[in-house]
Amino acid sequence: MKRTRKRLLDWYRANKRAMPWRETRDPYAIWISEAMLQQTRVETVIPYWQRFLTLFPDVHALATAELDDVLGAWAGLGYYARARNLQATARLIDENHGGRLPDDAETLRTLPGIGRYTAGAVASIAFDRPEPVLDGNVKRVLTRLLGIREDIGRPAVIERLWQEAGVLVQGPHPGDLNQALMELGATICTARTPRCANCPVSRFCDARAQGDAESLPIKTRKKPPRKVEAVAALVIRRGKALAVRRPSRGLLGGLWDLPGGDLAAGETPRAGLTRALRERAGLKISRVSAMGAVEHTFTHRKLTLHVYRASTSTDRIRLDGFAGHKWLAPGAISSLPHAVVTAKALGLLISPTVRSSN
Ligand code: SF4
Repeated sequence: MKRTRKRLLDWYRANKRAMPWRETRDPYAIWISEAMLQQTRVETVIPYWQRFLTLFPDVHALATAELDDVLGAWAGLGYYARARNLQATARLIDENHGGRLPDDAETLRTLPGIGRYTAGAVASIAFDRPEPVLDGNVKRVLTRLLGIREDIGRPAVIERLWQEAGVLVQGPHPGDLNQALMELGATICTARTPRCANCPVSRFCDARAQGDAESLPIKTRKKPPRKVEAVAALVIRRGKALAVRRPSRGLLGGLWDLPGGDLAAGETPRAGLTRALRERAGLKISRVSAMGAVEHTFTHRKLTLHVYRASTSTDRIRLDGFAGHKWLAPGAISSLPHAVVTAKALGLLISPTVRSSN
C-alpha cells in the first residue's frame, strides 16, 4: 500500500493537468469546483468556475446574492438543484460558521448539499485531512487495482470501496492522493481502453495481472431514460411574451421557462398545448403555429419538446404548477435564468425550422 501511494503521488505531481482550482487552497473555491465538477467535464467547468468566483468571491457573497444571479451564473451546467443547495449551504456557513467552511468531513456532511464525496474532497484537498473520496473514476481504479469483481451497484460493494479508499488515503498529502486517483481514472485508467503500459501502479494491479481490466467495474445495466413528450409556447399578448417560473423544488427548479407541460398518453402536441396552457396558466390561445421540436436528455428522461408560437387575449393568468410569471419583450426571455432545453426552444423560435409536430 505504501508503494502504491508513493507511486500515485509521484505520478500525479509529474502529470497532473492544469486546472485553476488546483492553484488555490481556498476551501470555498475548492468546494465550488467540486460542486460544479459533479456530472460535468473539466473543460466545461473552468469558465463557469472563474466567472462564479468573480461574481461571488466568498461564502458571504454567495449567501447574500439574489437567487436569480446564482442560477444565472450556473445556467448551462445543469442539475440546478446543486446551485440552490450551494446557496442554502453558503447561508448556513455564513450564519453558523462565521463564513468559513468547517475543516472536517463530519461537520461538512451535516450541511445540505454536501455529501460524502464533497466532504472528503474539501477536507482532504483544502485541509489536508486523510478523508477518502469515491467518484466514478476512483471506483474504476480501485475495482481494477484490487480486483473487485462484484457488482458496484450493490451498497455493500460501494461501502467496501469507501473503506479501501479510506485506507489508501492515510498518510502524507491526502488531498494529492485523492486527486491522483481521480486523475489516473480520468486520463490512464479510462473506462474503455485503460493504458496500463503507462500506469504508475500497473505492477500492483490485479486486473492487469488477470487481463480483465476492460470488464471492470461490473455494473448492472441502468434503465434507459424514459421517453417523454412535452409542449411549450411563446405566447404573445399585446406584443409581450409570457415567461413562467418553475417552482423552487424539482427538476430545473427556480428557472424561467416558456409555459407548457407534458403530453398526456395518446394526446397530440397541438391538443396538449391547448390543454396545458389552459390548465397550467388559465390561457386561451389562438393563431397557433408549430415551430418544430427539440430534444434533450435529462438523467431519467429523454424529452422531445414541441415548440409553438401562439397569441392570447386572456388578461388574468391563473398559474398551476408554476411559481411566478412575467410579460416581457419576446427577446428578453433569454436574459432570465433558464435551462439548456429552454435555450434550445428559444433558438427554434428565433430561427425556426418549421415542421409540423401535430
Ligand atoms: Fe488501471 Fe491498467 Fe493501471 Fe490497473 S494497470 S490501474 S487497469 S490503468
